[in-house]
Amino acid sequence: MDARGAVARINLEAVRHNLRVAKQLAPGARAIAVVKANAYGHGDLTVAAALKDEAELFAVARFEEAQKLRAGGIRQPILLLEGFFNVAQLEYAARHDFHICIHQFAQLEALERTPLARPVTVWVKIDSGMHRVGFAPEQADEVFARLARVAAVLQPVNAMTHFARADEPEQRAVTEAQIARFQQVTKGRVKATALCNSAGVIAFPEAHADYIRPGIMLYGITPFGDQQGSDIGLRPAMDFTTTLIAVREHKAGEPVGYAGSWVSPRDTRIGVIAVGYGDGYPRMAPPGTPVLVNGRRVPLAGRVSMDMATIDLGPDATDKLGDEVLLWGQGLAAEEVARHVGTIAYELVTRMTARPRLEYIGE
Ligand SMILES: *Cc1c(COP(=O)(O)O)cnc(C)c1O
Repeated sequence: MDARGAVARINLEAVRHNLRVAKQLAPGARAIAVVKANAYGHGDLTVAAALKDEAELFAVARFEEAQKLRAGGIRQPILLLEGFFNVAQLEYAARHDFHICIHQFAQLEALERTPLARPVTVWVKIDSGMHRVGFAPEQADEVFARLARVAAVLQPVNAMTHFARADEPEQRAVTEAQIARFQQVTKGRVKATALCNSAGVIAFPEAHADYIRPGIMLYGITPFGDQQGSDIGLRPAMDFTTTLIAVREHKAGEPVGYAGSWVSPRDTRIGVIAVGYGDGYPRMAPPGTPVLVNGRRVPLAGRVSMDMATIDLGPDATDKLGDEVLLWGQGLAAEEVARHVGTIAYELVTRMTARPRLEYIGE
């Protein structure tokens, strides 16, 4: 007998393939591969190293994420999507070839009063309609004019914006308005522009511009709620797996697990699998959420606990202790699991905990 806990097998060849898909969709554009949040749970250093020949830039959300990539030997420029938040970060960014996004006047003022050893590459974030961060289109003139006078800034600057609803096919007009607003204030004023997240890359070719910023699609997951990555030729990069650690005979009418919230309608075999919310498998996954066991879909039965979950293998099951169970990945899309859980696949892969081992293939 042998069984082990949860393992996320990451296929780096799939990640490379997915970036190539993005670049084929946007043939004229260069790629800023988004590897924030530990490359959406896939391991940022390893993923970035695997893309070193294909991505022109990397992007992260946090300063520490960029530092980690640089310290780990990644050489491309690294775009800080929310920029810098103190002078030490600004100086470090300039020294280490981080590109900085600036989205508010506090950052512009810091640039104006901080002399830098080397000029820094700046991306001005325009709020074209997301209304989260960014300069309003009416402020763009002033921002570009002030930046043009800053010696510490590489001239001319770049500009970017972010779409709020590019993943909603019936809301095309919203994104089209964002594109128009952005182009209006940046045309002829900047060196390069970047608008597209994965949904933009896939659905808005007119906005591919100079750089694309694909994130989720690199990991084989589509941003569109009713599809899965394989529909557009993406390959899932993560197989999140565990094993059966017990197979039990179970009587009709008996409950399983905490709160007895699931009661079996029949005599059956219950499989106990070594995964729980302590690994990042969502506690909110309801009974009926599928897992893949020996090539067939098997439903969760009972509540997900910290270290274990239970599945209804069926009365005739021949599955054995130690058999592998796929929680999502090749053959069972994270998008489908997410729909059962009532969330998005972004959240599933990103909120895995440190407990599952990450294993790599295709290095
Ligand atoms: C996260 C992020 C992206 C990538 O988005 P996906 O939907 O994962 O492709 C692109 N741009 C910005 C500004 C982001 O924050």
